[in-house]
Amino acid sequence: MALAAMLIDWTHCLSVPNRGLSLRWSRALCDTNDAIETTMNIKSEFRIAVMPGDGIGVEVTDACLAILDALTRRIAGVHLATEILPGGAAHYRDTGVALPDKTVENARNADAILFGAMGLPEVRLPDGTEVNPQINLRFELELFAGVRPVKAMARVRSPLADPRANNIDLVIIREQSEGFFADFQSGKIDDDQAATDRCVITRTGTVRVVDFAFRLAERRRQSGHQSLVTCVDKANVMTSMAFFRKIFDERSKRFSKIKAGHAYIDATALNLVRRPWDFDVIVTENLCGDILSDLAAGLIGGLGMAPSADIGDKHAMFQPCHGSAPDIAGSGQANPTGMYLSAAMMLDWLGERHGSDACLTAAQHLRAAIESGFRAGQIRPFELGGTDSTAQITTTLIDIIKTQPAVA
Ligand code: NAD
Repeated sequence: MALAAMLIDWTHCLSVPNRGLSLRWSRALCDTNDAIETTMNIKSEFRIAVMPGDGIGVEVTDACLAILDALTRRIAGVHLATEILPGGAAHYRDTGVALPDKTVENARNADAILFGAMGLPEVRLPDGTEVNPQINLRFELELFAGVRPVKAMARVRSPLADPRANNIDLVIIREQSEGFFADFQSGKIDDDQAATDRCVITRTGTVRVVDFAFRLAERRRQSGHQSLVTCVDKANVMTSMAFFRKIFDERSKRFSKIKAGHAYIDATALNLVRRPWDFDVIVTENLCGDILSDLAAGLIGGLGMAPSADIGDKHAMFQPCHGSAPDIAGSGQANPTGMYLSAAMMLDWLGERHGSDACLTAAQHLRAAIESGFRAGQIRPFELGGTDSTAQITTTLIDIIKTQPAVA
C-alpha cells in the first residue's frame, strides 16, 4: 500500500466528531505544473503556530516551511498563515524562560502546531533534568495520544536483512499525559539520598488512549491491516501497568472486529527487531512508547525518517520523532523526511477536522512526492549513507511537488 494511503488512517481515530468523513468533493486535477484545483469548502485558511526550537529542529523547520510554501502554491484552496514562536532550551539559556506565555497562548489559538525539536543536553534544570518544553506543551494542551507511524520507505534499506523489513508498517500509540512522566519537573529528591518519580496510570487517561488505538486499528483494517492492537506494558511487575492492561482488556470488548494482544515491554523490544511485521497497532505507556518509537525508527532507516503527531481532543502538534541532534546541528546533514511526513500528518488532521478537501489533497501530494523522490533515488540523506544535504533534499522535493502528476 502506498505511504499516502497508510498515513491518513490515523486521523479517523479522533474522539471529536469527524466532520470530514461524510464529505464528498470534486477535484479537477491536472497532470501539469498548474495549480491543482479542489472545490473550496468550509475553511481554507489555517493558522499554524511554528516552533522551530533548537539544533536541527530549526533546520528541518525552515526546510519544511519552504516545502509547505511550494505545496500550497500547487494545491489551490490551502492557505497556511504561519507564525514563528520562540521557545526551547537555547531560549531558556538566554532568557530564563523555556516557553513564553505568549507562545503557549498563540499555540493554543492556532489551528495546528508545527514543531521542530527542543532540548540541549547542556541546558539543565537544578534537579539535573533537561529543559523539555515539548513535554510541557503536551501536558498544557492535553495532547494525550502520540501517534508514531513506522512505515518502510521505498528503496530505504532497513538494518534488518529479512526482506519482510521492506514492508514494515505499524503504528505506536504512546500515552502522553501521565505514566512515568506524571512527575515531570516535580520528581522528589530526599536529602540527596533517594529520588522518586511516580508512574501514574488513571482510568480516564488509559481509556482515551486505548480507544484511540482501537479506532485506529479499525480504520487500518479497512485497508487490509491485521486488525490487531497490542498492549505493551510491564504488567508482570508493576501495579500501575497491570491496571493499564486491565483497562485495555475492558475496552477491547467494545471493538469486536479487532484482536487484542498483550506483550511485555522487554519482549517487545526483542520482537520489534526479530519480527516487526507481526505488529499492527501498539498502545503503551508514556516512557515505554518513547523508547520503543526510537527503536522502531531505527528499523526504517533512522530517526530522520520518523514522523509523529501529538493529538488531543482540541489541539494537535506535529513534529518529527527526533530531537535537536547536537552532534550534527549546523552541518546541514539533517534528514528532513520525518519533518515533512509530520507536516503531511498535519494537513490530514486539518483536512479531517475542518472538512477541507484541499488539505487532504495537499497531504497526499506531499507524501507522494516524498515517496517518489526516494523510489527514484533522487533523495539520498546522509543518515542513510547518501550525500544530500537538508537543502538539497528540500530543493529536490520542491521540484517534484511542482511537477509530479496529481494524486488520484
Ligand atoms: P536525537 O534524536 O536528537 O539524536 C539521536 C541520534 O539520531 C543522533 O546521532 C542524531 O544525529 C541522529 N538524528 C536525529 N535526527 C536526525 C535527522 N533528522 N537526520 C539525521 N540524523 C538524525 O536524540 P538525542 O541526541 O538523545 O537528544 C538531543 C537533544 O534533543 C536532547 O536535548 C534531548 O532532550 C532532545 N530531544 C528532544 C525531542 C523533541 O523535541 N521532541 C525528542 C528527543 C530528544
